Amino acid sequence: MVKKWQYTFLLAFIFPVLLQGRTTVNVKQTNLDPGVEIPVHELHGYPWISASEFLLNLSEDPLSDTTSRAAHGRLGGHMVTIHGGSAFIHLDVSTYHLPAPVERYGHELLVPLYEWIRFLHTRIYPDLTFSPERRTLILEPESYSIRDIVIQNFKNGSTLRIETTRLFQEQDINIWEGRNGWLYCTIYGATGDTIQLNRTYDSGILRGIIPIQSGETFQLSIRLRNAISGYDFYIDPETRSIHINLRKPSSLTASERTLEASEKWLIDTIVLDAGHGGRDPGALGADGTREKDITLDITLRLGRMLERELGTHVVYTRKTDVFIPLHQRPKIANNANGKLFISIHCNSHDNRRVSGSETFLLAPRLTEEAIKIAETENQVIRLEENQEIYEKITNEQYILAAMAQSAFVKESEDLAALVEKNYIRNLKTTSRGVKQAGFYVLLGASMPSILTEVSFISNKTDLQKLKRASYRQKVAESLFQAIKDFKEKHEKDIPNH
Ligand SMILES: [Zn+2]
Repeated sequence: MVKKWQYTFLLAFIFPVLLQGRTTVNVKQTNLDPGVEIPVHELHGYPWISASEFLLNLSEDPLSDTTSRAAHGRLGGHMVTIHGGSAFIHLDVSTYHLPAPVERYGHELLVPLYEWIRFLHTRIYPDLTFSPERRTLILEPESYSIRDIVIQNFKNGSTLRIETTRLFQEQDINIWEGRNGWLYCTIYGATGDTIQLNRTYDSGILRGIIPIQSGETFQLSIRLRNAISGYDFYIDPETRSIHINLRKPSSLTASERTLEASEKWLIDTIVLDAGHGGRDPGALGADGTREKDITLDITLRLGRMLERELGTHVVYTRKTDVFIPLHQRPKIANNANGKLFISIHCNSHDNRRVSGSETFLLAPRLTEEAIKIAETENQVIRLEENQEIYEKITNEQYILAAMAQSAFVKESEDLAALVEKNYIRNLKTTSRGVKQAGFYVLLGASMPSILTEVSFISNKTDLQKLKRASYRQKVAESLFQAIKDFKEKHEKDIPNH
């Protein structure tokens, strides 16, 4: 704030030069307000604002009144009165001393522009901003919801990260490809400083970005360098940023392809998905223990171990108690270029005697049985806002997505088997085995993916165990060992590794 004012007063000496006789300053209540033009006159070599016009146009109630002798109006809830020839501004019951008396100028009452701004700033509008170059005064600027745009380039494309101050929803965002190499993105309800954001974004696939504020919508017109093979976006609820991924068409050389193939096989990024969260508590124990708390605790324990002991990069779909829609979870995994996706849950059964662990992979066909098994974990969809996303998943689409997964069926099965093996060894519980089911959370993840049901929260003995930190640690250790075994086995086959 201090710097801004130094800058402003420095420009105070330049402003008269810009002034040619009578001009105006555009005064806006907020950023989005079109504003009103208030006259500014040059007098004694300085710009003077028509304070009477200011009060007449910006007063908050119709009490404002001006004569050639006095003017008053309500600004920011304060009663402001000025008198021609007097250096005192009356503010409610107090006074503010101007360095020069108010000048009468025809029917207007003038105050030195910068003294008027100083008065408004110190007494009424602490956040006001004034741009001398643009001759714009904003009395109550709202903070922009778009903070910054950052470009990251990858071998297979570029990511545009839009940093925001509030969490936007998917339905606020619209992206479409235009003609002649343009891509457009609109964010409804967002505001951004289009001057500050209008920088050079010439990097990777991008040639440039033009930010536009159009009413309540913030738009980015993205100029592409070359054709893209596709794009998608997701919202990271933790950082509140919007990620737009632009994919390059693949035109790799044979050696690049080999390199890429071997990199593809390195288990260097593991995506951990703590089941449920936020308004979705998951299954509940008889004493109110919530599945979402247990799954998060195990996930964080496992993640720490993987980072510390295996040195792998760990990506979490959530690290706190937040709600993440099911369909977002595999997206997060794909965007992170994950090599394994592990969704952690606790089981529940109407028959409270049922106990033990079971681990699933996505069924290649959406059979009735597969749907039935996944019913409980899919239930969360009822809590989600865009339920239609799932209704749109027809049998064919499911099969297509499952086929993409089927490239990893063997790996998913291996991993699931290793998980159950380690549970038996460390937890000494009943293993209900490896199964296939139609879990939405596994749908669309292009990597080996499993969903593990650690124990039954509906069973008294299992619940008592789940509530013990030492048991949750053992669960995390079992999963860690399974991942470690899987990683070692699969990386052994990579050439030149
Ligand atoms: Zn669950």
